[in-house]
Amino acid sequence: MTCDFAALTNLDPADPDAAQRLLEQCTATLTDPTLWIWAIVFTVVCAAVGALIGKYKNAVARDALLGAALGPIGWAISLLLPARKPLAKCIACGKPVDAGDKHCRHCGATLSPSPAAVRGRG
Ligand SMILES: [Zn+2]
Repeated sequence: MTCDFAALTNLDPADPDAAQRLLEQCTATLTDPTLWIWAIVFTVVCAAVGALIGKYKNAVARDALLGAALGPIGWAISLLLPARKPLAKCIACGKPVDAGDKHCRHCGATLSPSPAAVRGRG
């Protein structure tokens, strides 16, 4: 007896032992380590492809998580999402900061605003 819909529809209602055997078979299928190893491998591969997409979108962690959680749907979302802001370098410590940040997240130095961030007032 295999765990599928055919076995369920052909189940004899007068034989409770058959239902019990089907339930045990389905439980064994769901707790099979091979199934879980494949699920983990699939998740890791999806995360790696997501990270590869994220490398070009400047958002490796975001796109790796999307790939791991949603698989190919996450890849599509990653491809459709806009790229993150390009990185700039702090003038004080030289570490990477997001373009448009007001302060360096590493040393706290005040960064000069980019021309796009200036609103024309003041
Ligand atoms: Zn700095």
